[in-house]
Amino acid sequence: MAAYDYETHEYDCIVVGAGGSGLRATLGMAEQGLKTACITKVFPTRSHTVAAQGGIAASLGNMGPDHWQWHMYDTVKGSDWLGDTDAMEYLAREAPKAVYELEHYGVPFSRTEEGKIYQRPFGGHTTEFGEGPPVQRTCAAADRTGHAILHTLYGQSLKNNAEFYIEYFAIDLIMADDGTCQGVVAWCLDDGSIHVFNAKMTVLATGGYGRAYFSATSAHTCTGDGGGMVARAGLPLQDMEFVQFHPTGIYGSGCLITEGARGEGGYLTNSDGERFMERYAPTYKDLASRDVVSRCMTMEIREGRGVGAEGDHIHLHLNHLPPETLAERLPGISESARIFAGVDLTKEPIPVLPTVHYNMGGIPTNYWGEVLNPTEDNPDAVLPGLMAVGEAGCASVHGANRLGSNSLIDLVVFGRAAGIRAGEVVDRTSGNPKLNQASVDAALDRFDNLRHANGQVPTAELRLEMQKAMQADAAVFRTDKTLAEGVTKMTAIAKKMNDIQVTDRSLIWNSDLMETLEIENLMPNALATIVSAEARKESRGAHAHEDYPDRDDDNWRQHTLSWVDDADVRLAYRPVHLNPLLGHNDGGIDLARIAPKARVY
Ligand SMILES: Cc1cc2nc3c(=O)[nH]c(=O)nc-3n(C[C@H](O)[C@H](O)[C@H](O)COP(=O)(O)OP(=O)(O)OC[C@H]3O[C@@H](n4cnc5c(N)ncnc54)[C@H](O)[C@@H]3O)c2cc1C
Repeated sequence: MAAYDYETHEYDCIVVGAGGSGLRATLGMAEQGLKTACITKVFPTRSHTVAAQGGIAASLGNMGPDHWQWHMYDTVKGSDWLGDTDAMEYLAREAPKAVYELEHYGVPFSRTEEGKIYQRPFGGHTTEFGEGPPVQRTCAAADRTGHAILHTLYGQSLKNNAEFYIEYFAIDLIMADDGTCQGVVAWCLDDGSIHVFNAKMTVLATGGYGRAYFSATSAHTCTGDGGGMVARAGLPLQDMEFVQFHPTGIYGSGCLITEGARGEGGYLTNSDGERFMERYAPTYKDLASRDVVSRCMTMEIREGRGVGAEGDHIHLHLNHLPPETLAERLPGISESARIFAGVDLTKEPIPVLPTVHYNMGGIPTNYWGEVLNPTEDNPDAVLPGLMAVGEAGCASVHGANRLGSNSLIDLVVFGRAAGIRAGEVVDRTSGNPKLNQASVDAALDRFDNLRHANGQVPTAELRLEMQKAMQADAAVFRTDKTLAEGVTKMTAIAKKMNDIQVTDRSLIWNSDLMETLEIENLMPNALATIVSAEARKESRGAHAHEDYPDRDDDNWRQHTLSWVDDADVRLAYRPVHLNPLLGHNDGGIDLARIAPKARVY
């Protein structure tokens, strides 16, 4: 057994992650006088939430008529009828409250002439249950909305005496024999010390797992650590096959080039210099919807018409546009292209690739953020002591496809809900139960094994292999054949974890070890994604399957559950929640409004 000294800390609540969702949960718990700490592997305001520019959706109606039921309808339709009705209702109904709270906490929203919160239009957000014109629903703080939210919530959390453990890496959950979660084991990156956190409630707010792919718009820290911890604890992940791609991430870095670039007249070409979108989408061409453009780009690459030395990307041209237009309308893009692609976009095309942008799937929860441990008798059974919020969780409000600006609102609505729920279920008068020593020891053993791993495969090499396999096969373009190939490849890659090589044995700022812990977390997320995708024989939202082009509600309107054990994945299914929280006579939505139909825009 590994021998490590460690310090034990006792809290009512421990939140792992300091992005928008983690900070909102931390603040909510601390405000109620729960003794709360937040553990984060990066400084709070460096969490990926800081990169969110566009904004946060809520039906405030500041720019014209709006209603929470219209927002709910758009979310249901966006989810391609896979979201849980109760959770989607809760999101849309609580959104205005959650945004006004942010305003009162101090988020510097942009303003209208009358001083109200400014709201902008976003794709898929409409009026009159999809029958009216587009709505301006997305609240923004210029193009720095995520940045503004993070700074405000961090300050408020400190003010309410939440404690922060910054640059601490959570290794594993501590699970009692009866299946209750008791806290986490963590490693302090800067002095190498080990810490055991005993908590009555543990919240995973660890973000997405975009880095399972070669090209992702998310930060390098988005490695699905929460999903990894949950999988190792023998709990399932949900709807992992649904991964949202954005057509234009910069090749290599994945840094996002906004859709506005094509809006201003930009177009895509293949290695023949052909504007291939004219062939696939004669009417909208380069401005067809995100998933369509991404799929066409991928088909060009697969058929050998990609650009670059490896023929593995596509060119985005803006160089035909007047330099004044570029300077005035796309200054940020000009800078990104220069820094991340070394390209002067007034003269040359930008190398781009459909890029992973968001994970709809994650750790299954109810709309309070409580983690589910579904059984055959009870698909909604709650696992005591554990919650998951933000992109790590799956409540599920985004179902098979997320609408723009619906993630930031998910972070604060469900971060807030987790706080409210913890206030109800955490008994702050009693002491914490004794920790299960065997579970603590198991976490430290795993840590020690990786620290001393002396196999043949360096972490960076295996990570690249995984990322390329996922990019190729768990992609926008999916067929029975590519998915089956992907499952075979990923299973073989996952098995190589047993042969991983770590060269740095120290405990202080050991980035080799940290990245190895991260790849061990990415792996179950990646495996669950490809295996769940292979099994789903229909097209729904982001899961566009060439061999089954239609949505099949009779057989597939259900959530995929995946249990990952090393390289093995077991699947089962869970019913979608169809019942709302409020009856129609009590002001709730008329269920006929949200009955399934074709998803056309
Ligand atoms: C470029 C970009 C632009 C976007 N723009 C928008 C937008 O305009 N509107 C919108 O609604 N959505 C947008 N999104 C999506 C949205 O920003 C994310 O889904 C959201 O910010 C995720 O927040 P989070 O709280 O779940 O996690 P994150 O912000 O990713 O934070 C994760 C936290 O977990 C911590 N952590 C992770 N693992 C560990 C560990 N093992 N130990 C300790 N700590 C750990 C990290 O330190 C970090 O604090 C955008 C996403 C990207 C990538």
